[in-house]
Amino acid sequence: MTRVLSGIQPTGETHLGNYLGAVRNWVADQHEHDAFFVVVDLHALTIPQDPAELRAKTLGMATLLLAAGLDPEVCTLFVQSHVSEHSQLGWIMECQASIGELQRMVQFKDKSAKQSGFISAGLLTYPALQAADILLYDADRVPVGDDQRQHLELTRDLAIRFNSRYGDTFVVPAHAIPKAGARVMDLQNPEAKMSKSSDSPQGTVLVLDPPDVIARKFKRAVTDSGTDIVYDPGTKPGVSNLLSILAATSGTTPQAAADGIGSYGALKTAVGDAVVATLRPLQARYAELSADPGEVARQLAVGAGKARAVAAKTLARAQHALGLLAPG
Ligand code: ATP
Ligand code: MG
Repeated sequence: MTRVLSGIQPTGETHLGNYLGAVRNWVADQHEHDAFFVVVDLHALTIPQDPAELRAKTLGMATLLLAAGLDPEVCTLFVQSHVSEHSQLGWIMECQASIGELQRMVQFKDKSAKQSGFISAGLLTYPALQAADILLYDADRVPVGDDQRQHLELTRDLAIRFNSRYGDTFVVPAHAIPKAGARVMDLQNPEAKMSKSSDSPQGTVLVLDPPDVIARKFKRAVTDSGTDIVYDPGTKPGVSNLLSILAATSGTTPQAAADGIGSYGALKTAVGDAVVATLRPLQARYAELSADPGEVARQLAVGAGKARAVAAKTLARAQHALGLLAPG
């Protein structure tokens, strides 16, 4: 069976892009593959975090993933820092990456530009930790949004480099970027991807936003000049984004989603309604699960045990290949 692995940061508020570009596909993937999903709390440390908030958000993210339909009986769901092999292989992968290739990562450039003053070394090196996250599980496929394409390419490069330097050790993973919803754009700035770390509350639709808030955000979405409802991201980024979201939430293509919609107003109402309906079951389940955080923590402990069993073997293989002396 194909092994898949993907991760999500616990910080920031989970938005429609995370759901359509990643989480929703994970729920489907778990039934078809041997699937590992990880809440990457160590990645969150690349920018300063409030400790109490980080703890709460990590549990909250796990709750949200369960609410979205990840089933711990079917897949392996765990928290990155609970499996110390991630940090251990992370260091090894840092030593395989060059500073130059890490500095070329678009996300590093974007995120470091947003930091005022202090920029952690981890912000630069975290794609090497991400490579470790993936390689530890011999993942064949990594289902992520289109924004992660460059990082995944780096993971592949590092795996190939390691294998050619030290002998066949890692499975080289392929991307699995979904067709619909792969890149959801900000409703107020459709040139930029919807992002947890952007400061655009009106442009970011949160998966836990109440229905009236979702409807309002879509009503106020930036559209383009003209009145035609056509899918053309180059000249009509706003309308095209709404059509992509409508397509992704109603199981059609962006071109077909435009059929029968006569005005920008009608498009905004249609997409708002489709998103509210898509998120309704998740929101209801989240409310139920939040009432029992102890149960979520127990599920995570089981997941960490399953993950560790796989990760420990891969780490030992890499350590041996590198010439690290086995403990006596
Ligand atoms: P940040 O801006 O802090 O990096 P993020 O919004 O990119 O946050 P992540 O936790 O980094 O969220 O990503 C989780 C998953 O969501 C990844 O698979 C990523 O590819 C996907 N994703 C993130 N943003 C979008 C988007 N706008 N459209 C589609 N998929 C997305
Ligand atoms: Mg991201």
